[in-house]
Amino acid sequence: MPGSRSAAAVAPVVPVTRWHVLGARAFAAVAVVVLVAGAVSDGRLDTAPRVVLAVAGVVLATLAVWAGLRRRGRDGSERSVLLWPAAVLVLMVVLNLVSPLTAHELPGLFTLAFLFVGLSQRPGTVWWCLPVALVPYVWILQIDLDVSLVRIPVIVAVWTLVAEVPARLLGLLRVQAEELSRTASTDALTGLANRADLDRTLAALGPHDAVAIVDLDHFKRYNDTFGHPSGDVLLRDFADCLRESARSGDRLFRYGGEEFLLVLPRTTPAAAAGVLRRTAGRWQQTRPEVTFSAGVAAGAGRDPLGSADALLYQAKEQGRDRVLAQPDAVDPDAPEASLPQGTGS
Ligand code: GH3
Ligand code: MG
Ligand code: MG
Repeated sequence: MPGSRSAAAVAPVVPVTRWHVLGARAFAAVAVVVLVAGAVSDGRLDTAPRVVLAVAGVVLATLAVWAGLRRRGRDGSERSVLLWPAAVLVLMVVLNLVSPLTAHELPGLFTLAFLFVGLSQRPGTVWWCLPVALVPYVWILQIDLDVSLVRIPVIVAVWTLVAEVPARLLGLLRVQAEELSRTASTDALTGLANRADLDRTLAALGPHDAVAIVDLDHFKRYNDTFGHPSGDVLLRDFADCLRESARSGDRLFRYGGEEFLLVLPRTTPAAAAGVLRRTAGRWQQTRPEVTFSAGVAAGAGRDPLGSADALLYQAKEQGRDRVLAQPDAVDPDAPEASLPQGTGS
């Protein structure tokens, strides 16, 4: 249903690429702090050049990984953000091999890594990160079995809370943002897209896309005769009729009170008028008591909206219940003047 596609896909609350930037910086900072702290706690001056080299290596590696992700187009994937807590984990394992003393200072970083997972990933990700982190954790700290029976359930509970609580809160925020975005760009009465979405669509209009403005005839009279609530029902019925007649790719908008706007990609005005003619036939079978008029134009940069509106005005002047289409630019036989095409209703 073209009209119901109006809600644009909602971006995550925090964009994935932002998490990559944060993750890369955090990982580089962690590595630098750990390496310097290790050198200081070693108390040996001859470690200083090695630390400088290691820090430079980590910063370069971080930049290289980040650039690689961007080049391969992976920086948009939420899962790829897990690379950074994983990098912290690998760093700790490597440090444990090189300098066990340094690595013993680091279990808190696991908790930070889980916080990062919770903030950047969907709820539930923590469940498969837990075993991946527990193995190196137990190995690095060389926890005895008696101690681990107490410590591991505690640490699992802490990691789960630290990751799952923000993930769930952000998940709720995401659902609300989606709902907000959907209602902001959807007309409540008809369910069609509203004007908020129209500006984006018009800005992206191509030279071979058609625009049609449709207006119900004497709708005020209908309201006056049958009442406003009946008018609302008729507007909804008309929106349904437009949806049924539209082709996949066509976009439908409620432009104003009883005015609707159609954007028909890669369609000549004559073909768009054909779509509206079909709509009129369908509509006549459903609600013959109200007809509609329409103006159809095409071509970005040539004010198709203004042209369609002018044609709609002409259609009203000529007695309503008709579609007036701009002559097709590609059709050499097309007349100079606007081409009236009866809607058949
Ligand atoms: P024309 O053929 O020249 O377009 O005449 P018209 O009566 O359709 O146009 P006019 O602009 O005079 O009246 C439009 C009417 O549409 C008036 C207004 O009450 C009604 N309308 C606008 N929005 C709504 C709505 O949401 N529900 C209902 N029931 N009526 C609406
Ligand atoms: Mg009207
Ligand atoms: Mg009107």
